[in-house]
Amino acid sequence: MSAATGIRGTRTALVIGGGIAGPATALALRKAGIEASVFEAYPTTAEGVGGAFMIAPNGLAALRLLGVDEQVREIGQPIQQMLIDGPNGKRIARFGGVPGLPPGLAMWRADLYAVLERRLREEGVAVAYGKRLVDVEEHPDGVTAHFADGTSAQGDVLIGADGIRSAVRTLIDPAAPGARNTGLVGLGGHSAHTPDGAQYDAMHFANGRRAFFGWWALPGGGTTWFSNITRARELTAAQARETSGAQWLDLLREQHAGDRPAAEILRQADPAQLVNVGSLHIMPKVTHWHRGRLVLVGDAAHAPSPSSGQGASLAVESAVELARCLRDLPDPASAFSTYESLRRGRVEKIIAQAERNNNEKSAGPAARMLMRAVAPIAVRTFLKPEKMFGPVHRYRIEWERHPAA
Ligand SMILES: Cc1cc2nc3c(=O)[nH]c(=O)nc-3n(C[C@H](O)[C@H](O)[C@H](O)COP(=O)(O)OP(=O)(O)OC[C@H]3O[C@@H](n4cnc5c(N)ncnc54)[C@H](O)[C@@H]3O)c2cc1C
Repeated sequence: MSAATGIRGTRTALVIGGGIAGPATALALRKAGIEASVFEAYPTTAEGVGGAFMIAPNGLAALRLLGVDEQVREIGQPIQQMLIDGPNGKRIARFGGVPGLPPGLAMWRADLYAVLERRLREEGVAVAYGKRLVDVEEHPDGVTAHFADGTSAQGDVLIGADGIRSAVRTLIDPAAPGARNTGLVGLGGHSAHTPDGAQYDAMHFANGRRAFFGWWALPGGGTTWFSNITRARELTAAQARETSGAQWLDLLREQHAGDRPAAEILRQADPAQLVNVGSLHIMPKVTHWHRGRLVLVGDAAHAPSPSSGQGASLAVESAVELARCLRDLPDPASAFSTYESLRRGRVEKIIAQAERNNNEKSAGPAARMLMRAVAPIAVRTFLKPEKMFGPVHRYRIEWERHPAA
């Protein structure tokens, strides 16, 4: 029997979580000849859920292996450059893309989810909603998942793609640390305002007087924007939405008063279209990615801070790598340890880099002034795109090769 079909080792997989990593893992497993079923806690699909994000060239390459890169290009706006601006809109620094690579794509999480969900249906992958995993039982030849509604399911392995508050992570290691609240609430939306001289291939990160503000201009007119509000108390997205969009928008307008072009973008923003993802989290290092027949993928294992622009891209990379290992290694134990050895170094480096950036972003006014003064020099001298992003964005998984080769 061929190792390349997955028949010798793992034949069936239970994928817990129907966000981004779950569908990506199920599609990669299908490509590897392993039958996967997805179990999502929420009663309906994730249509319309979540904020805006970037898919980087490495994420697009992993999505190509799942056969959805064309569809993802259609929903994304190509971003060739990142511009760092001061409170008055003055340019502090510019980063171009890595030479020879396609641009990153700005999109809504809901649109990426819709592409993956359509592909799951085309491939005939079973997705069950209203299935919140609460427990697992391992047997010598498989694993049983138990759900809150009293039902259960069986497979050769169970994959936790259940996000930053993963139940599977705790079942693997009851002592695993949980996600830490950053004290910032993530907000975003659309505005009718198009700043003068807007470039449609640029993502702007503006260093406001009191807080940071991000935006990009839409070719059809208007902008998509994102920012944070400080809130020490942890808020789920549902709790955060108990405060109306108009009230959050008022707080943002106050926070960005006098900042250009943030103040005008917010003035013309529609409160009915405000996207509120609730408190943002930082995930401490996850020591155990697998145990027995259980393994983690995506944010459950490695959730870089949103400022990395890499969370979804890394989730899809890990999904593909896990499927390759399950395809070619003879048993779950060797597949999981090879998967971890191929992924851990890379994701932890990216997480550490994002934390350093966050420290710079949350610097006090004096440090921010200094940054504004030295950034253009720094960009000219040592912050070259290839050096900064090359190893992250050029990464490719060699699907056809044996992972241990
Ligand atoms: C504000 C913000 C900005 C971001 N910006 C970027 C960016 O620019 N670029 C980027 O690449 N990434 C970005 N990210 C990160 C990106 O959104 C995540 O890394 C990515 O969505 C990870 O997907 P996931 O499937 O692992 O987790 P999730 O998308 O959280 O999905 C987990 C799923 O599991 C389900 N679930 C949970 N518990 C259970 C259970 N017990 N049983 C069954 N199902 C369960 C959940 O309901 C959910 O559907 C950002 C994140 C935030 C919050």
